[in-house]
This record gives sequence, structure tokens and C-alpha cells, in this order.
Amino acid sequence: MSKQTILIVDDQPENLVLLESGLNDMADVVTCHQPSKAMQVAFECDPDIILLDIEMPDINGFELCKIFKAHVKTRAISIIFITSHHDFEHESKALALGAIDFISRPINLSVCRIRIQNHLRLSAQERQLTNAYKALQSEKEHLHVTLKSIADAVIATDVEERVTFINPVAQRLTGWNGNSAIGQSITTIMNLFDASTNDVLINPVSVALEEERVVAMALNAKIVSRQGREYRVTDSAAPIKDSCGKVTGTVLVFQDVTESIAMATQMSHLTNHDPLTGLPNRLLLHDRLMQSIPCNIRTNTKLAVLLIDIDNFKYLNDTLGHQVGDKVIFQLSQRLEELCDAHTSLSRIGGDEFVLMSSGINSSNHIDVVATQIATLAGTPMKVGGEEYKLSVSIGISVFPDDASNEQELLRHADTAMYRAKTLGRSRFCYFSDELQSEVDQRFQIERLLNKAIEEQTLEVFFQPKNNLATGELVGAEALVRLRDENNNIIPPDAFIPLAEETGLIHALGDQVLHQCCKAASRWLKEGNPVRVGVNIAALQFSNEQFYLNIQQALKTYQLSPKWLELELTESALMHDFDMTRTTLQKLSDTGVSISLDDFGTGYSSLSYLRFFPLDVLKVDRSFIKDMLNDDQAKNIVDAIIHLAHSLNLQLVAEGIETSAQLETLKSLGCQEGQGYFYSKPLPIHEFEARYLSNNAK
Ligand code: C2E
Ligand code: CA
Ligand code: CA
Repeated sequence: MSKQTILIVDDQPENLVLLESGLNDMADVVTCHQPSKAMQVAFECDPDIILLDIEMPDINGFELCKIFKAHVKTRAISIIFITSHHDFEHESKALALGAIDFISRPINLSVCRIRIQNHLRLSAQERQLTNAYKALQSEKEHLHVTLKSIADAVIATDVEERVTFINPVAQRLTGWNGNSAIGQSITTIMNLFDASTNDVLINPVSVALEEERVVAMALNAKIVSRQGREYRVTDSAAPIKDSCGKVTGTVLVFQDVTESIAMATQMSHLTNHDPLTGLPNRLLLHDRLMQSIPCNIRTNTKLAVLLIDIDNFKYLNDTLGHQVGDKVIFQLSQRLEELCDAHTSLSRIGGDEFVLMSSGINSSNHIDVVATQIATLAGTPMKVGGEEYKLSVSIGISVFPDDASNEQELLRHADTAMYRAKTLGRSRFCYFSDELQSEVDQRFQIERLLNKAIEEQTLEVFFQPKNNLATGELVGAEALVRLRDENNNIIPPDAFIPLAEETGLIHALGDQVLHQCCKAASRWLKEGNPVRVGVNIAALQFSNEQFYLNIQQALKTYQLSPKWLELELTESALMHDFDMTRTTLQKLSDTGVSISLDDFGTGYSSLSYLRFFPLDVLKVDRSFIKDMLNDDQAKNIVDAIIHLAHSLNLQLVAEGIETSAQLETLKSLGCQEGQGYFYSKPLPIHEFEARYLSNNAK
């Protein structure tokens, strides 16, 4: 504790000296012999005690005491009078003026010291008390301001649940102002309900008081204000305990979460719905499927997933623009929604993909009906921006529990079935089946093998001889690509060429075959075995801008003269851009490469383009040769094709000669060249060389 101060006011300097010397070991002693200046001195030294002489000129001690007591700064200072009077009247007057003690002259210093010592102690305690009170007061004020200005609503109650404090936010949310709220029961000012059921909720204050623990409010709470306004709130109540642990009341803190709940609701709608159509998206569909499956198990009914994909939507989008595409999607979604009812819901799970989920099905016929309805709704012409469009859709269907055991499988299998509907020519619906799945698996397996073979350059090329029918002499060979599985079994091209075309792998495949053929032909030529090699070219490969350059490049790489290369193209490969096709064929033909028209008779077989394109060879399709002997029509077609080739000056090759009877007939019809099992199956290169080339070599 800092040193205390005693101020002594006396007009007699000798009195001052006496007292000062007698007290200065207990406190700082300040003296003043001019009463008129006493006030000033007191301001400066802020004493704990003032010893005041009563008998002084000008202003006596009583007057001075009044002045001290009147001033706020000096009011609290303990005043002790010193006088030579001993009468009771003086004493009582002094005490009435607010003095705390009275010392008589002549002064008994030791008694005086004890008394002053006591007063100093008292004064120190009083000072401490005042300071503590001030600190408490300022803390209280601070707390008050904090509670008033925080964003949360705060209400305090006593143990009877009566409001003792309510901050402005709580006043706003309850609609009760501070004055009227204080003293009211918490349940009067705070109307709490369940937001969904409107049931009255128990106020957490009651629970907090009863169970003496912190209590959170029910999750779904709302408060209805005195004026009837509703707010969504979350809150908690905690008991207030005194230092002995006795509960003296509660404090309830709550927040207005109306906006954040609205935001969360909107967010959850956004994450679960498609913004264009407002339909549930894939996420929500998953949830719904998951919820629906147990219901179907319970009721022993079926659940069908119909995956709807607009045919050629990409084309529509690319040619007419996204805006039109969006409008088409939107209109279709509205039409399909007509099919929805308590058991049927629609979602949009991708650009042009919708899923109609139909549960509680008892008859499989029902699914057919729904699928047909979808096709009809989609197929009805729709108007977008003044133009009329007619859509078609492909639909894949999978059914729980027949085709799948969970929602993921259901969707995956519907996708597989939809894909099948597309490959079957679109605008149809297709059910998932185990066979379909095994086809898909197989396809996947082949795709993997093909990728690997291309990467590792292990595709094989077999060669099938082309023979002069009259002499049996070798006139050329057709190159036929082969893929092997892990067990070294051969996978026929029909199983992977279409897939290679779909996946674009055909370009790499075609290049590798072309290079192998040019390499072989070049070597054979050098070895003295000139063989013209026919290479099959897929439509996609031919339409590649680089095609001509690729051919040139391959020929150059192996220094092969173009006349030893023949390109076998089907009619469909030539049917895209006539002028482009003709230009490319002409350029190839000009360099000396032969062009052969494969599978002739099965496609368009139009006479005009036979003349329009620079062709060298016609290959009569195997099917006619096969049927020729028992089917006059087939034989007539072969006859006609042979005449056609002669008159157009085209070389003719018959495919698929298997028997000598076929051979004889072809010869009699005037066909000069052919290939087929009668001569040889396609052979691995070494066998082909051994059988057809080695004797002639070198
Ligand atoms: P394609 O061009 O019509 O080839 C002739 C097909 O007939 C070959 O089938 C061949 O093995 C088969 N064949 C030949 N003689 C007979 C016979 O006497 N009887 C029977 N039943 N069949 C015979 P392969 O090798 O299975 O090829 C099938 C198709 O795959 C080919 O038909 C061709 O379109 C395509 N292809 C084969 N290799 C390639 C290639 O390297 N590139 C491209 N793009 N397509 C290829
Ligand atoms: Ca061919
Ligand atoms: Ca053919």
C-alpha cells in the first residue's frame, strides 16, 4: 500500500511542528497554518486524514470542515478536530459536521498516535472499498454495454423464470420492450414453436433450471413475436450459479437464423436440382432411388429406371446453338413431367439425359406403356423460336430387383441398355439383360486388348491369296488384320473393327496395318516376289484429311511403288462428300495406287458413281457366291456384276469361293479372279510366304 498522507491545519506554527514531528513516521505529513489556503493544499496532497484546529482566525475549523464536506473532491476525507475545549457541545457539533473524531489539547501524543493510526487504517480500507466498488461498477457497465450491443439475443431470468434482463436484440425478436418485459415470465414473452409442426416447444430456461445444466433449443424452433412476426431461432439456456454453486437464475442466448435457413434451403435446392429445368438432379435421384428400394422390397413391387437420351442432341446443339438446345431440353422436360405421379418422378442427370423413375410396379407391361408414352411425347413436334423440331429418344430400362440390387447398379444398367438402344439405331427402348451385360463386358475386354495391341504394335496381319481362276496363279493378296486375346486366341476383325471405328482407334489401327503391308510388299518385291496387296480401309479412315498423305508417307517409308498397293473401300466409305472422295481417289489413282470397291452388290450399287469415281476393281460380295448355286437370283446378280465390270473395264474379283463348283460356275460366267477358302484361308505372313512365295523367291 502506498504511504498515506495527513494534512494538519493550525494557525499556530508551534502546534504544527509538534504534531508533524510526532506523526511523520506513520504517514506523510503536510502542514498548513493559513486556513484560507487549506482547501488548496488539500486538493494538492489528497490527504487521508485532515487534522483541523477549531480555533483559528478568519475561518474557524467548523467553517472549514463545512467547506471540505461540501466539495466533491474532499468530501470523503476523514476529518479529526483538535481543540482545547472539552465540552460536549463542541464535540457533538464537530461530529454533526461529519468529523470522525476529536482530539483535545494538551495533546497526549501516544493516545493521539493510536487514534490516528486507527483512522488511517479505516481510511485505507475505505479507499480500497471505494476502488473495488468503482471497478465493479465499470465492469458492470462494460458488461451491460456488451450485452446491449452484441448481435445475439440475451435474456436473463431469476429462478422463478421471471425476466431480469433483456437486451435490444431479444426485445426486437420477442416484440417486448425492456420495461414491460422485466418481471414477466419467460414463457409469456417468448413464444416458441416447432417450425414444421407448429407444436408449442418447452422453453429451455425451464429445463436449465430444473436440470441445472446447459440446454440447447430444439433444432427446428421458431419464435413468434408479440406482434405476430415469426423468426427461426437457435438458442441455448444456461443456469447462473453463485460462488457456492447455488442456481440464482438463467441466461438464455438465441439467434435469428431465418435468413441463414432460407439460404441453406436455397443452397440445398441448388445442389439437388438442375437449374435449367428445375428437375431433381443426379444427386437427388440417387437419394430417391435409395429411399424407394426398401419400399419396393416391402410391397414386393418393382422399380423401373428409364434412362432417356435425346438422339443426335449434340448435332442439334452444335448446329442450332445452345440456346435452342436449352429450350428443347426445357420443353421436353415439361412434357415428360406429365407422366409423373405419386409413383413416378423425373430427373435430369446430364446434358440431354433424363431419368424417369417408376416405383410400385406390378406388371411388366406397365414399363412398355411408359416407354412408349415417353417416345410419343418426345416425338411430337415442338416449336422453338418459330421453328418446328421433331425429336427422337433412345431409352434404356433396368428394373429392380430383376436387373440390379442397388441404385448405382440400376443406373449403370439403364445406361448400358440405353447405349444398346443407340447402337440398334436409336429411337427405341431397350431392356437391360445379362446377355447385354456380358456383351458389354466383352466389348470392354476387346477394347482393352485393342488398345494394348496398338500401343505395343502387336496387331497381326494375315494374308489371303487372290488367284487367277483359270490358272490358279497368285495375282495378289488381301491383308486382314488379327487381334489376339491373352490365351493367344484370334479375335476376328468383325468383333473389333466396328469398335475401333466408334472409338477412333481405327486411325492408329489402319496406319499400323498399312505400314505392315507396305513393308511386306516391299520386301517381297525385293526378293523377286511381286505381290499386289489389298488393304481394307474403313470409312472413317478414308474421311481423314491426312489419308492421302498417310498413304504417300507409308509408300515412301518402304520405297514401295504404288502399283503394288490396292485400297479396298466399301461403298459406304465413298458415300459422304462426293467431290472430296473423288478428288482423293483421283489423286491416289494418279500416283498409281489401285482402288477396289469391296463387298459390291450389298450397298447402293449405283451405276452413276461407278463411273464417277476412278475405280480399278470390283469385289463381288461373298454372299452372292455362297448362294449362287441354289439361288438363281444370286447367280443372276453375279452374272450382271461380271458384265457390268467388263463393260466399265473394271477388274473383277469374286470373294468367298469355297468349292470347286462355285469356281467352275464363276469361270463359266466369265469371272477371272477370286479368293476364298477353296484356295486358302487368310494365313499368317510366314505361312503365306512359305506357301506362295518361297518357290518363286530369288
Ligand atoms: P472383307 O473385306 O469382306 O474381308 C473378307 C472377309 O472374308 C475376311 O474376313 C476373310 O477371312 C473372309 N473370307 C475370305 N474367304 C472366305 C471364304 O471362302 N469363306 C468365308 N466364309 N469367308 C471368307 P475377316 O478376316 O474376318 O474380315 C472381316 C472384315 O473385317 C473384312 O471383310 C473387312 O471388312 C474387315 N477388316 C479386316 N481387316 C481389316 C483391316 O485391316 N482394316 C479394316 N478397316 N477392315 C478390316
Ligand atoms: Ca476386303
Ligand atoms: Ca469383302
